[in-house]
Amino acid sequence: MPYEFQCHRKGCSFRLRSDTGQEAARLARAHARVAHRDRIAPADLDRWLEQVEAA
Ligand SMILES: [Zn+2]
Repeated sequence: MPYEFQCHRKGCSFRLRSDTGQEAARLARAHARVAHRDRIAPADLDRWLEQVEAA
């Protein structure tokens, strides 16, 4: 089942979907680095990443 990540930082509506949690986490970290010039806390990554039903 795919994973969906949604960034909950203030003013950011970035979201992504990936087939694996590992890939989704990698892309989420890349997003935080590029868009927020910051690292994403593991707790936030856990909370903002969820498994979703295949469309
Ligand atoms: Zn963001």
